[in-house]
Amino acid sequence: MDPKSDWKSRTVAVHGGARRSQYGEMAEAMYLTQGFAYPSAEAAEERFIKSGPDEFIYARYGNPTVAAFEERIAALERVEDAFATASGMAAVSGALMALCKAGDHVVASRALFGSCLYVLEEVLTRYGVRVDFVDGTDLEQWRAAITPQTHLVFLESVSNPTLEVIDLPAVIALAHDAGARVVVDNVFATPVFSRAAAHGADLIVYSATKHIDGQGRCLGGVILGSRELIRGMIEPFMKHTGGAMSPFNAWVLLNGLTTLDLRVRAQAATAQRLAQALEGHPALNAVLFPGLASHAQHTLAARVMAGPGTVLSLDLKGGKDAAFAFMNALRVVLISNNLGDARSIATHPATTTHQRLPDAQKQLLGITPGLIRLSVGLEDADDLLADILAALAAM
Ligand SMILES: *Cc1c(COP(=O)(O)O)cnc(C)c1O
Repeated sequence: MDPKSDWKSRTVAVHGGARRSQYGEMAEAMYLTQGFAYPSAEAAEERFIKSGPDEFIYARYGNPTVAAFEERIAALERVEDAFATASGMAAVSGALMALCKAGDHVVASRALFGSCLYVLEEVLTRYGVRVDFVDGTDLEQWRAAITPQTHLVFLESVSNPTLEVIDLPAVIALAHDAGARVVVDNVFATPVFSRAAAHGADLIVYSATKHIDGQGRCLGGVILGSRELIRGMIEPFMKHTGGAMSPFNAWVLLNGLTTLDLRVRAQAATAQRLAQALEGHPALNAVLFPGLASHAQHTLAARVMAGPGTVLSLDLKGGKDAAFAFMNALRVVLISNNLGDARSIATHPATTTHQRLPDAQKQLLGITPGLIRLSVGLEDADDLLADILAALAAM
């Protein structure tokens, strides 16, 4: 039994996956190498037949720094194994493409990150996969769409940007009853608040670009699940199609994991405080945040996640003009489109991240012209609240 299985998350986040060289370095070593020299021709042959956990062949297949990141996050998520990828989208597209073949049926929730929607709608279908979309919050729609022919279910546990929460245990039970596997994009739930593994998700994917880095420095992603699925289906697909994580990024992200728990809890506490302070403001139609009692799935959110997350959305009265005036008046919060960063970020989804969608689809997803997504950072909550209130007053 792995000793890390007894450790609590904060200990795993600091020590998980550590592999020290003969120098006994404190910080993780960064192995910036594309390949590895073998002591003999026989050893090279042997390694291509079967490589052990500390035996590497080529950085597209694996690398010691990347392996340390994979071990640490797998231990944190309480799953057997992980494969690190070049970006969150390499993880999403890799998980979907590795598991699906022509003729398969996929059911997905409709409210998805724009690139996830593109992969499902435009890429998978091109290879003969049939994809149906449902309103992820409506269990009846899941029940009607998932049939014994369904091969895979894909969903974002908390949707972007309207923060709808999906009943993960119920949807997973429906999928498993039909013999389908479930892939959960868990970015908004974060590894800190995730219970996706305990709820039985077959694969969990993260964009490590978001909270795991948490400081806006590099791209990365990860696919987590059982050893059988990760080594049997994900690794062969990923290592031959080339979406590997760079050792430099793995080193940055390993250090991100060390402080992830502290950062995400602090950001979530500030998000809760801002959501409560802003709810009912006369310039707002609504404040969307799973931690508010007024949120449509507040009780469900508390059941399926260990915390409300670090992102809230504000629906401003006055549409796009008001939204732009608000953003341009912000002095602390930056205008950008990342999330989970130490710096608070305001995004206008209708004109940026979700610009590609036709108006009717935006309306269906609740992406109104006045909607602002606010990713809450590590600044002082008082400064953030003052900045937001001043910007609302200046509109
Ligand atoms: C950002 C994001 C992705 C894609 O991650 P990248 O690292 O940008 O490729 C996928 N899903 C969700 C929910 C995201 O927020």
